[in-house]
Amino acid sequence: MPGQALYRKYRPRTFSEVVGQEHVTRTLQNALAAGRVVHAYLFSGPRGTGKTSTARILAKAVNCLAEEGEKPCNDCSICRSVDEGRLLDLIEIDAASHTGVDDIRDLREKIHFAPSEARYKFYIIDEAHMLSTSAFNALLKTLEEPPAHAYFVLATTAPHKIPATILSRCQRFDFRPIPMKKIVGRLEWIAEQEGVEVEREALELIARQATGSMRDADSLLDQVASSSDKKITLLQVQNILGTTSSQAVADLVASLAAREVSRGLHLINETIADGADPKQFGQEIIEYLRGVLLIKVAGQNPPDVTPESAQDMALRAKQFSLPGLLTTIRLFSQATLDKAAFPPHLPLELAFVEATLPETEKTPKADKTRAKSRPGPRHAKERRETASPPPAEAKVDKRLPSRETKDPQALERIENLWEGLLTQIKKRNMHVEALLKSCQPVAVEEDVVVLGFYYPFHKGRIEEPRCKGLVEEVLSQAVGQPYHIECVLLADRERRRESPKKGNLQAVKEDPLIKAALEMGGEITEVKSPPPEP
Ligand SMILES: [Zn+2]
Repeated sequence: MPGQALYRKYRPRTFSEVVGQEHVTRTLQNALAAGRVVHAYLFSGPRGTGKTSTARILAKAVNCLAEEGEKPCNDCSICRSVDEGRLLDLIEIDAASHTGVDDIRDLREKIHFAPSEARYKFYIIDEAHMLSTSAFNALLKTLEEPPAHAYFVLATTAPHKIPATILSRCQRFDFRPIPMKKIVGRLEWIAEQEGVEVEREALELIARQATGSMRDADSLLDQVASSSDKKITLLQVQNILGTTSSQAVADLVASLAAREVSRGLHLINETIADGADPKQFGQEIIEYLRGVLLIKVAGQNPPDVTPESAQDMALRAKQFSLPGLLTTIRLFSQATLDKAAFPPHLPLELAFVEATLPETEKTPKADKTRAKSRPGPRHAKERRETASPPPAEAKVDKRLPSRETKDPQALERIENLWEGLLTQIKKRNMHVEALLKSCQPVAVEEDVVVLGFYYPFHKGRIEEPRCKGLVEEVLSQAVGQPYHIECVLLADRERRRESPKKGNLQAVKEDPLIKAALEMGGEITEVKSPPPEP
């Protein structure tokens, strides 16, 4: 589809062609029929929802020369010159451009001159909220006493930035994001006009990406059509837009619901390796979970999903507890905000792991009251007792890693510093901070602080030189002398103390934490022998 941009080529030319804004167009048509068109309108709404197009249609309609029938007729000389962009009496001002102020001054000087060709002068002020105070003042004087031969439409994406004095002079219409189904319908029609064959699923994906903006949808279709020659498939669109197949999203949510950690992490890695954008993937997961939530709490199918997807979502709605679902949505929302993460899909992995933790083991990450409830060693003991009661009384004490510390006061000092240290680290890298929440200082041995982790995944990340370096730097600063860190898996360490010789698979499987992880779908891939005792 070479040549003219699709969104220009297929700009709506009649009220009925404006997609998804019937509440506006119907009212305007009624006003036209009754001869009650007012002199100033405010069209507000997101970009690409048809504000300027509707204003142009209105400009044609008030000036249309047709004796009878629907206006605009799109056939008389006035309608045609508007469509061709050469009607002198239609003046479009882009308030966002640097000429905005001059244009308004010009408007004030010339508005009292009669129109040159049409019956009425028609002003469209785009991005009206960008006008300067002096321009608004100038405009206000005009709006207070508009000449009978002039109409105004102020279009804006930010109506709250328009002074109340101006607002009170205008009749306001709110344009809404266009529903996905309507965008698909319009895209289908455009594709037909262009003689391009597009899979329905491909159009749906484009429509979803456009998030309510017809202009964005048209541009995306343009982009996709120009980079493929024959039939446009869903796969092509996914590749071009860097989006994920809806199957990958559905599979991921299924493993979230079933708490299949290793499958979920594998899915994330596979999807990203296939070229999906992590942020995009995260957003699609949120969108899907939102559908599940809607089914769970309101018992209604989300709009814009296929019947198959709705069925799938209903299954998940039964698997998730409501608090669990809410937490999961929050965790993934947070994950998509982290722009500087390295590797980029790490936030998704963290969100996944955290979302699949049993309720009692979740680190209260999204919680503002975190400072009070961050799990210290005592919490950790409680948490683990809840998760899996220790088999024998004698083992309980041994399981408290902090008791092993040679210098208990040193550990206490670090524990007291810990919260502040996390705050410092968060300023440098919020990601490392998030990782650190899944561990706790368990021992201090000379200049080494031992950090205990519950999951190898978290431990592995902190051990990466970049993360480790940062933690050591901030730790040393906080304590006032150089410190190093050593990361241990709590299970390993405990085993080391309990029975140093036991490193076999059976012993590992018997560990309550490993058991829990296995039940959650984890796999044991390697059992390393514990380091020799000093
Ligand atoms: Zn006409």
